[in-house]
Amino acid sequence: MYQKLKTFLDDEDVVLVAVSKTRSNAAIMELYDQGQRIFGENRVQELVAKQSELPQDIAWHLIGHLQKNKVKYVAPFVSLIHSVDSLTIAQEISKEGSKNQRIIPILLQVKIAMEDSKYGWDTEQLAEAVDELKALENVEIKGMMGMGTFTDDEGITLQEFATMKSIYQEYKEHHFTSEAFQVLSMGMSGDYELAVKSGSTMVRIGSLLFS
Ligand SMILES: *Cc1c(COP(=O)(O)O)cnc(C)c1O
Repeated sequence: MYQKLKTFLDDEDVVLVAVSKTRSNAAIMELYDQGQRIFGENRVQELVAKQSELPQDIAWHLIGHLQKNKVKYVAPFVSLIHSVDSLTIAQEISKEGSKNQRIIPILLQVKIAMEDSKYGWDTEQLAEAVDELKALENVEIKGMMGMGTFTDDEGITLQEFATMKSIYQEYKEHHFTSEAFQVLSMGMSGDYELAVKSGSTMVRIGSLLFS
């Protein structure tokens, strides 16, 4: 599965984040040995443990909701935080970035799903916070992340991805105009093909790769 998926994504110029939450180090090493170097975790504690136990050339992404008091644990090494959903968290990441003398790459998680449970900015909140986000010195805002509704209805998913793409495009044109802003993280095991069609540049895939 890995090579086939990787070839498809490489052809489309889409980056693969292998979502390794709940998976063993041995299972992660199987993908590592096939060449995968980017892994994503949704819990800080698990991310920190795996980072210390596994090869140091792995780029670790945090994809799950982040609490303020946990930022300090990932700040020294995290390669990309996908799930920045408030100004408070972005400020904390910048503060910890400064302490660690690094600029931490982040994505802004935008709420696109109709489901109520998902985290993320709504467009009004984002518009209000954008100037303060841009002023943060020790984060680099590299793009946006979105999660679609968990549904079999492709129409709903496509509509949500189209909304995500247009918000991303709008912010890229008007607010985050540097070259660095180029990542649109959307698509998981069940909807990555629709996501790629809709303009995703980075997919987060777990179950499909590890089953
Ligand atoms: C678990 C998870 C994924 C991967 O989900 P799969 O359906 O296993 O591919 C992607 N993104 C986030 C934020 C996740 O928590």
